[in-house]
Amino acid sequence: MDAETWLIAVDADGERTTLLVARDPQRKERSFVHTGTFAISHLESRAAPFLREALARASPRDIEDLCAQIGGKVLRRLLPGQRVPHWPVSIRRGAPEGDRLWPFDAELVGLRLGLRRLIRREGLDEAEAAREASYFQQAGLTVRWLGPPHGTLVAAIELAVLAEAADREAANVAANESFTDAARWVGGALGYPSCCVESFVRIRRRDERLLLAEHLPFLEHAPGPPETLWLNGGLTVISHAPCSIACPATTALASRVLGELDRAHPGFAARWRALARRVHAIDRDGAVLALDLEGPLDGGRIRGALELRPPAELVTRDDLAGLTVAIHDHQWTSPRFVATLVADHRG
Ligand SMILES: [Zn+2]
Repeated sequence: MDAETWLIAVDADGERTTLLVARDPQRKERSFVHTGTFAISHLESRAAPFLREALARASPRDIEDLCAQIGGKVLRRLLPGQRVPHWPVSIRRGAPEGDRLWPFDAELVGLRLGLRRLIRREGLDEAEAAREASYFQQAGLTVRWLGPPHGTLVAAIELAVLAEAADREAANVAANESFTDAARWVGGALGYPSCCVESFVRIRRRDERLLLAEHLPFLEHAPGPPETLWLNGGLTVISHAPCSIACPATTALASRVLGELDRAHPGFAARWRALARRVHAIDRDGAVLALDLEGPLDGGRIRGALELRPPAELVTRDDLAGLTVAIHDHQWTSPRFVATLVADHRG
């Protein structure tokens, strides 16, 4: 996905279809419809019939024209080469000491509160998996290393949950018709709210950047609570992409986990809130920014900026302080950064 790409949301009869539109005048991309300029496909397994007809007739000059012809709105413009940072599992392995924030393990806390029956870590190599296994075993859990292709390790208290998780994971990898059932079971065992599970299984393309972008609100949006923050993987206390940053079930889940972290480590919630209750953005180079913004996303002024670098380093970005931000051409920009992955959690 190195071409310029847009996600366009089309809402009809209470259901959303998300289109992936890539500039492709050379017709190199595989697509559902090709208009001569754009390769268009949909992220769901099926597009609504009315949309299939509208797309078959469409001959757009540009993105705005395409939106006008099919009744859609640009949800995101993805930058060529946009990267998403990888957060190592080490930031979750253990408990914070003193006035530190990391490591904290919101998933283990959730399991002990009975909010989930399963913990799943992925992207591990064998050495990392061995460290995780030992950590969970010391916490009284049983683990199973599922290995490639996703480097997945699952941990649970109940053996039956672990066995079923391994079976469902195999179905998930096979990405066949049983994918949706498997994803629903795994999501339930991980304690994800059902509204968020349904929003996840709707999308069939498993590209991390697309999933991230598709679950964010439109660029101009009302602030959500800090509890639903998941764009910043180093700070999140949930392990799913919420169906919306206003999702009440996710807010309630995160509040319980935060409450328990704060009970065990007094002062944790206040330290976490000082970082989470901000505007979060991933810029085109993959830098993860937590911005103290005064005013709206379009026209506000940055009072202070922190960058969170993996694994868990907080860097003050004085170069961004004092800048004015604006929404322009489906991007969130200032003279010093350009971002399309943005979530306002100042609510
Ligand atoms: Zn939800």
